[in-house]
Amino acid sequence: MKITKLPTDPGPAAWDAILPDAPRYPALEGARTADWLIIGAGFAGLAAARRLRQLHPTDTIILLEARRIAEGPVGRNSGFMIDLPHNLASDDYAGALEADRRQTTMNRTAIRFALDAAQDYAFPPETVVQSGKTNAAATDKGTRHNHDYAAHLKQLGEAHELLDATRMRDLSGSNYYQSGLYTPGTAMLQPALYAREMAAGLTRQNVSITENSPVTNLSRQGNTWTAQTPQGTVQTPRVLLTVNGHAESFGFYKRRLMHIYLYASMTRALSLQEQQRLGGAPHWGFTPADPMGTTVRKIGGTGGTRIIIRNRITWSPSRSLDEGVVAEMAKTHERSFRARFPMLADVGMEHRWGGLLCLSRNNVSAFGELEPGLYSAVCQNGLGAAQGTFGGMMAAELASGQTSDPLTHLLAQNPPSRLPPEPFVSLGAKATLRWGEFKAGREL
Ligand SMILES: Cc1cc2nc3c(=O)[nH]c(=O)nc-3n(C[C@H](O)[C@H](O)[C@H](O)COP(=O)(O)OP(=O)(O)OC[C@H]3O[C@@H](n4cnc5c(N)ncnc54)[C@H](O)[C@@H]3O)c2cc1C
Repeated sequence: MKITKLPTDPGPAAWDAILPDAPRYPALEGARTADWLIIGAGFAGLAAARRLRQLHPTDTIILLEARRIAEGPVGRNSGFMIDLPHNLASDDYAGALEADRRQTTMNRTAIRFALDAAQDYAFPPETVVQSGKTNAAATDKGTRHNHDYAAHLKQLGEAHELLDATRMRDLSGSNYYQSGLYTPGTAMLQPALYAREMAAGLTRQNVSITENSPVTNLSRQGNTWTAQTPQGTVQTPRVLLTVNGHAESFGFYKRRLMHIYLYASMTRALSLQEQQRLGGAPHWGFTPADPMGTTVRKIGGTGGTRIIIRNRITWSPSRSLDEGVVAEMAKTHERSFRARFPMLADVGMEHRWGGLLCLSRNNVSAFGELEPGLYSAVCQNGLGAAQGTFGGMMAAELASGQTSDPLTHLLAQNPPSRLPPEPFVSLGAKATLRWGEFKAGREL
């Protein structure tokens, strides 16, 4: 299969941009052979590499990444590795009880895996911290969502705490919020640092990490797969495809994956005076009580204290985008920032960007053996930090002939369901997104 469409995401991967220069990994050159090949170094690909190394200490493992490490969506997201159900298609993230329990177990397995990696590879402390997150509500409706979600969490037996407006202000420095719902299990990432540190740790374990090595052709002859990049080839019996929605470019899951872009902006580093004016805790993370609302983080550490605003979604079946769209979306970020932080009126945004994300209509990942020796762990439905990590681990186990309850469950899932024909699907999706954003009101 010839792969003509390569990944692009508009604007900088800001989490990466605020770090010191990254170590460079070579591009693939010449003809190589490997026991294992992984394509795509996002959450799924990095987790797959680590799990394969755990299972096969001496095998040859090559990971091919089209761009620089941490330049793709792994370095562009908001960094919430969420443990609890987070169904973007529902009003308040909740789903059916049993399914939510299973989802939580999978997410926690992924978080444990990330925390273990942090320990094994000695990540700097700011890379991943299990400090929990708050669902922030700015409206009566948002507060009702939080109460509904809290009732659901009670049924699940999950720890949570409802915060009033004063607690929300003490935490964030902002008067904007009426209430919040704190849950302790989410791990908060500096996601670009996470990708960099994973890659560095894997390299020390003899995994060959490459960057600027897009796979432009993938073919099989008998039991041997050949992946071609602009300057090299890899021959291998087993390939793990961890390219998220770009699986479509490899000829898989056609008309079953939904591609959207999410957008975010990051302020410049706040001065000490500005930090004092803002007040609140040194860092925190708010997801919106309405899934179509605004995610906000205050971060510290390398690159300084900054605020990150994430909102707006566009439907992008072509998986490409005009850079101008980011400037348009950034206008909403600017409004959301000004409304929440009037005390930072003179603070501007330093970085604005977008990133591609994959959803399926029935909220399942696209996982399994696609052809003999070719395994996929793609389509993470907006929860890619946890679900991508879990999918990558499970793909490594499946390809290694392992069995486990989580793997059996993942394999028993329905595949992503078929999309309605065009133009209906695009018209419907665009209208649903715009209506959702309109309904979000002040939560946006
Ligand atoms: C603004 C924003 C905020 C978000 N916030 C969150 C959040 O807080 N929490 C959360 O869980 N999720 C969040 N997400 C979603 C999350 O980033 C994705 O779900 C996650 O990155 C998916 O992980 P993945 O490993 O499956 O795919 P990706 O991270 O997309 O990795 C796939 C990799 O494959 C590479 N690739 C593609 N084609 C090829 C090829 N031909 N050859 C070689 N390599 C290739 C790409 O360059 C890419 O690096 C957010 C996304 C955005 C854009």
